[in-house]
Amino acid sequence: GATIGILGGGQLGRMLGVAAAQLGYRTHVLAPDRQSVAAQTASALTRADYHNKVVLADFAASCDVVTYEFENIDIGPVQWLADRVPVHPHPRALAVAQDRIAEKRFVDGIGGRPAPWSAIDSEADLHAALARIGTPAILKSTRFGYDGKGQAVIAGPDEAASVWEAIGGPAVLEGFITFDHEFSILIARGQDGVSVRYDPPHNVHRDAILRTSTVPAPPAVLAQAEEATALACRIADALDYVGVLACEFFATADGPVFNEMAPRVHNSGHWTIEGAETSQFENHVRAICGLPLGPTTLTGRRVTMDNLIGDDDAVAPLSEPGAHLHLYGKGEPRPGRKMGHVTRVTR
Ligand code: ATP
Ligand code: MG
Ligand code: MG
Repeated sequence: GATIGILGGGQLGRMLGVAAAQLGYRTHVLAPDRQSVAAQTASALTRADYHNKVVLADFAASCDVVTYEFENIDIGPVQWLADRVPVHPHPRALAVAQDRIAEKRFVDGIGGRPAPWSAIDSEADLHAALARIGTPAILKSTRFGYDGKGQAVIAGPDEAASVWEAIGGPAVLEGFITFDHEFSILIARGQDGVSVRYDPPHNVHRDAILRTSTVPAPPAVLAQAEEATALACRIADALDYVGVLACEFFATADGPVFNEMAPRVHNSGHWTIEGAETSQFENHVRAICGLPLGPTTLTGRRVTMDNLIGDDDAVAPLSEPGAHLHLYGKGEPRPGRKMGHVTRVTR
């Protein structure tokens, strides 16, 4: 079978490896750490040195197609690979999604609606932007953030200096959105430009970390899903996107507000492993390998996915009928660390 190259070694790469193996593909993971949790499901793992041309050339030579499972990787090496082997999604999707300012400009440009925002490079910028956007607001580092890392809420103007001290620039200031719910749109787009969409999960975060995704989402979310899906499809079309794309939204009284996108499989899609006819991981593999996409139909009436974070109980689900336990093999639990997840399907 052909070999899929995966940039990044986390649990998303690990679950992609399972789906790839089921369809007869090998996976070659390029990851910063030999101990990365994708190692157990990869056919081969090379310690990433993304700027070493010998390593990259070997990797490119061993892969028929390359994808990525995290977005915090320099665009240079990814573009270098793309000149030698097909990379899906296209590196341009990575470039847009890994930079919050590029992302918001892009979404503004195709008629989407992010929170009011302003690019911040100095404390003076921050004061000026706060005067315009108001408080509360959130200052987010432009790059490298995940699980709420690299961002802080500014409750009032007097907090500007200390938050600037903590976060620094380059950053983006966002108005704080009062939302009823958070949800995400997950689509998979094939090489022929045809997309499938999953039921939109309702996502609940705690301390900026996803706790739970549930489908079907409440009516207030479903009422906004059509508009949000249309935006996700415009994003995918504009980027000539191939693979799974996730877009996070706030459901507000004025309709869906775009939060951010991930050019990859997404935590809020883990429920699809048992909860949909074709999982997000399988559809991502199908898309990047040029296969027809599979149906996204729910396998039950209701599906919930609970993340296991830090020292959350990973034993009880083993004796709970119908609970599907996934552990990522990360070793020591640390506060805020995603150790696994549990999916429950109500038939
Ligand atoms: P991840 O990539 O892991 O989803 P992240 O670090 O990129 O997370 P965001 O998605 O930007 O972080 O924010 C994390 C959470 O913080 C959001 O899901 C939401 O609950 C809250 N949040 C972020 N931005 C805003 C905003 N402008 N208004 C209100 N809440 C927000
Ligand atoms: Mg993010
Ligand atoms: Mg997010």
